[in-house]
This record gives sequence, structure tokens and C-alpha cells, in this order.
Amino acid sequence: MPRSVGVAGHSGAVIRFGDSMGRVTIVFTVVIVAAVIGSIASYQVKPANYEKLLEKQKKFDEAFEKEFYVEHTKYVETGDRSERLEEMFEHIRQKPDMFRLEMDNHPLPYLTAECTACRALITTYLTYRRVLGWDRDRIAEQAASTCTTLNILTAENCLKIVNKNIDILLYIIDNRPSLTAQTICGVIFQSGTCVLEDPSFLNWSINVAGGGRPITGSKTSPNRAAGDLKIIHITDVHYDPHYRTGYNAVCGEPCCCREGQGIPANPANGAGEWGDYRDCDSPWKAVEDAVRAAARQHPDADYVYYTGDIIDHGVWETTVAGNIVSMTRTYQLFRDVFGSKPVYPVLGNHENNPTNVFAPSYIDRSDFSARWLYDFSADQWASWLPAATQQTIRQGGYYTALVRPGFRIIGMNNNDAYTFNWWILYDPAYLQAQLQWLHDTLLQAEAAGEKVHILAHIPIGAGTSYRTWARQYRRILERFWDVITAQFHGHTHADEFNVFYSLSNPQHAISVGFNGGGTVPFSNYNPNYVVYYVNPQSYQVTDFESWYFSLTEANQNPNRNPIWMQLYSFSRDFQLSNVSPASLDGLVRRFASNPAELRRYWEFKVKRGDPFLAAGCAGDCLLNHLCEIVTNEANDDSKCNALGAIFRNLDDELFDEDK
Ligand SMILES: [Zn+2]
Ligand SMILES: [Zn+2]
Repeated sequence: MPRSVGVAGHSGAVIRFGDSMGRVTIVFTVVIVAAVIGSIASYQVKPANYEKLLEKQKKFDEAFEKEFYVEHTKYVETGDRSERLEEMFEHIRQKPDMFRLEMDNHPLPYLTAECTACRALITTYLTYRRVLGWDRDRIAEQAASTCTTLNILTAENCLKIVNKNIDILLYIIDNRPSLTAQTICGVIFQSGTCVLEDPSFLNWSINVAGGGRPITGSKTSPNRAAGDLKIIHITDVHYDPHYRTGYNAVCGEPCCCREGQGIPANPANGAGEWGDYRDCDSPWKAVEDAVRAAARQHPDADYVYYTGDIIDHGVWETTVAGNIVSMTRTYQLFRDVFGSKPVYPVLGNHENNPTNVFAPSYIDRSDFSARWLYDFSADQWASWLPAATQQTIRQGGYYTALVRPGFRIIGMNNNDAYTFNWWILYDPAYLQAQLQWLHDTLLQAEAAGEKVHILAHIPIGAGTSYRTWARQYRRILERFWDVITAQFHGHTHADEFNVFYSLSNPQHAISVGFNGGGTVPFSNYNPNYVVYYVNPQSYQVTDFESWYFSLTEANQNPNRNPIWMQLYSFSRDFQLSNVSPASLDGLVRRFASNPAELRRYWEFKVKRGDPFLAAGCAGDCLLNHLCEIVTNEANDDSKCNALGAIFRNLDDELFDEDK
């Protein structure tokens, strides 16, 4: 069994790249006004002396923040970087792969350095702007230089990403004079020393109606049966129009394999024909192949879900016009391939330009507003969705549609609650409107006796879904656990699921969020899509299976299409009668006392990506994956700790080598 050795072993093994890149670069932008990445994500497995470490780290961060400002100011005045400043930059960028890892899986030392960086950089840039009155261009120039120093992108691309975000960030900072570095980093990282303390960011809520069925136990479901509906779930195609076979896949930037990045001297470093495990998106032929394979293999499917992210990770150079071309081509492909079969799409964080930023609807500056995206989506989706969806799509990119009598879909745009959406900093409570609409829509569905599937791009509970929003969402789940029969997500590119627990009675599992994985390999994954079996009366998912191909094998045979195979059939492979919340909660507890079975789940989760398998996963790496299933809210470790106690106790030998 592959060994997990110390922290490096964990990180190597847990890599869940997902959208980190988009995020990272974005974050970086904050660097501008400031942040890099940071902090101790919610479901990191924490050492026993965590509280003590945190106290020490707080002191360190405070001192670092002050000193960084002093040293950086000297540099800005004289043009010379002191030895100390070089050291401090070195500390911030100490982990070369830091900017490519999914933050939720960052080992503690990374997260700690990231939070330190966030606070130091934001404090410094806030002072430049507010106290020293620096103008836009000066801030932008200096932020681009910091980006370059931290090796995030080339100097040229640093300037591009800064210029794409700087006006929004300055608008927010100038209009929110009480916004501190602590709050900014607290929103972005949500834990560790970057903890959120500002009550206006913590205390907003929505109105939840009384009533609803009392929760008396974990939710069960029927077993899979012959008459079940079949739903195809495709997500995260990340079509890169600049992808070129043979171009540099080890480009040193957050997104590779692109025209303009050159052909490497060593052909082994060239992009594969069908995609690449390294930090690359998908060529059009791979996007087309995946959608066609899903349709060909499941002609009997009733519906198709698409949970977002069509656009590439070249976040420093996306444009509205370019995004429109990529999205039009992709939606047209779905129409061509699936014909009259209904497709239910939602927006990903990459669909907007700049990436990740979804302004409140009352912000009407055309360079800030996402209105172009909402109007475009309303037009594109009109072929699949009823006319009544137009109004909310144009308003905020979300909708509800009755699929058939008794069965409703709610398509959310929860990218607004992604912690890298700068507009949360401007007005955290603007997220109330869509959540209240969700609640009200569920209330009406309940009155009409309907069951509901919720589709959204960002999984709830991950370290990157804003915790106050996640708490309000959980209140909705608690109230409508009986109406909401499944949730479907994307974004992480991992083939995984989340079990949701009751707020009032945490031993009861009340809902499941199914993640479709992604057809893009970014990064280290094999491409996949998922098929669900759904009971036609209760509309609960009774079973699901995943389909994938080996990227290594496909690229060795560039002249024929990839061979799609079944990765797993969930009930069969884990000997379950169904995949209800009760069943999956039971499985999670089984995982805690059976590392071999948990490892199998991990192998499916990473879709047997060769780099993952080579790195392996054991000990804390496995425990991290287990914790990800049960963490419903950033910084809530209760379930993780309970399972961890069983897992570690049982599996002592796996941890011995760690310390
Ligand atoms: Zn995403
Ligand atoms: Zn994605």
C-alpha cells in the first residue's frame, strides 16, 4: 500500500485540484488589494494540540503583518528589496504547488502560510489605498509586481489578471471603509487565523416558515427498480479553445497545453490528444466525445443535468465575447446530441467575466454586472426551460421548472456564495434574496405536493462555500428535507457525494448532494459523467453509476475515440440496498472502521487518475476524504472528529509513520 509520509505525503495524495486555479489566480488578484490563499480549511484533520498552535500562529501573523508593511513600504520608496522582505516573500511562496491545490485539501502548513500572506498583503494594500491615497494605476502596477514575485503567473499575465479585477476590488474597498484585512481574509478562508468575526458577515438570516415534517430519523428511500427514471449528469467540461495537442503541459502557469505556451523540447511534456492530467482543460474533440458517449451509452435517459463550468481556466485572459463563443458552441452540442431530451443547466463560477465575481443585481455598472451572462443564458436555455423561468434567469441566473406533475427542479446560481466572489465583501446580505426565493419556491412546491431536485455548481459545506450562506441553506434543508429529494453539484471535478445532517438532531442524515465529477481532467483526474436512477414516485435517487475512460490509454491511441467504461455501480460495489441519506450515512460509518473500503471510495472519487494512484492515499489522507463527505459547514468539525476517533483508533499503524 502506498505510504503516506508526513505532510508532503498527505498533500500529494489528497490533491483535489478542481477549480482551485481559477480561484487561486483570483485570489491572487486580491493580492492586489490583497490576498493570496490562506488558512486552515474547515475539514482538515487537525492535530490534538490545534488550539495551542492557533494561538501561536495568531501572534506570528500579527507580527508578520506589521513587519511586512514596513519592509514593503521601504521597498516601494527605494526600489530595493531588503533581505528581510525577500525572506518574507519566500515564506509566503514556500510551497510551489500551493496555488494549484484545492484549498479544501491544503495541508495545515500551506493554509497557515496562505492566511499569513492574505493578511499581510491585504493590510499593506489597504493602507496604500486608504492612508496613502494611491491611485488605481499605482495599486495595479504594484499588485502585478507582487503577483510576479510570488510566481503565480508571468509578469504579463499578472498584469492582465490584476487589470481584470482591480476596479471591482477598489470599488468595494472604497465604498466599504470599515472593511478590514481580518474580515476580507476571514470571508475567503473562513478558518484558522483567518476566522470571520465581523457580525454583519455572520448574523444575517432568511425567514423560514414554520411547519414541515418533523425529523424522527435518517431519511430512507426505496431500492432501485425497473421503472426508475434515468438521469445523466454531465459537469465541468472546461472547453479550452486554445488547447493544442503537443503544446507545453508543464508551462508553469495555472493553465497549460495552450497555444502561445510553445512546444516543449521534451515531447513527454507535450499536451495529450484527448486532454492531459497536468493543469490543462479540454480540447473541443474531448468535450464532444464525452457528451456523445453519454448520449450513446444511455439512449433511454429521461433528462440531462449540466452543473456548470464550460469556460477554460485561462482566467487572466477570458473575455465576454470569448465566453459567449465557448458557451454557445457547448449548448449547441447538447442540443444536437440530446435532441428533444430536456437538459437542465446551471451556471459555474467560470462562466462570468471576470471569473468568480457575481455582482448584486442592483449594481448596474455594465463593467461589473453579470447581466450579459444572465440574458445570454436566458436565451440559450429557452429551448429547454419553460418561458416562466425567463424572469429569474435574467435577474440572477436561477430558475425553477416543473419537470412533470409532482417533480420540480430548482436550478440555483450559488456562485454568489463562493468565497472568491468579491461582492460578498461589499454586501454579504445580498445573498439573502436568492435563498429566500429558494425557500419560498420550496414552500409552494410543498403545498402542491411536489418533490424537488436542487441543482447548483458549488457543493455546500466545502471550505469555499461562505459559511453564513451555508448555515441558512441548511436551515432550508432542515425545513424541507422531505420536499428536497436530492441535490446535484459540480465544481470539484471529483466523483464524490456529501451527506447532510439535521441541525437540530445531528445524528439524523436528511439529504445527499451528488457531485457529477467532471469531463475535464484538470487536474490529475480521468474524465467522467454520472447516471442516476430515480424512483418515479418519491423522486429519490435509488442508485448511481459513473462512467469514465483512462486518459493514459486514450492518449496512447490518439487516432481512435476514448473507450468509456463503467467506473462503479454504487449500490453493487458497496453492497447497499439503496443510496438514501440513511444508507450513505451507514456507509460513511463503515468507512471509518474499514480503511480498505474507504480507499476504494477514494479510488472512485479520483476516478483512477494515474497520478493520484501513483501518489496513493492512506492515514490522514483517507480521513480527509471521509471528513469531506460529512462536513456541512466551514469550520464545523464535529462529524469529522467523531469519525476520526473511530478511524485513528482502529488504524493506528497507518498513523505511526506520521509522527
Ligand atoms: Zn467551478
Ligand atoms: Zn470546474
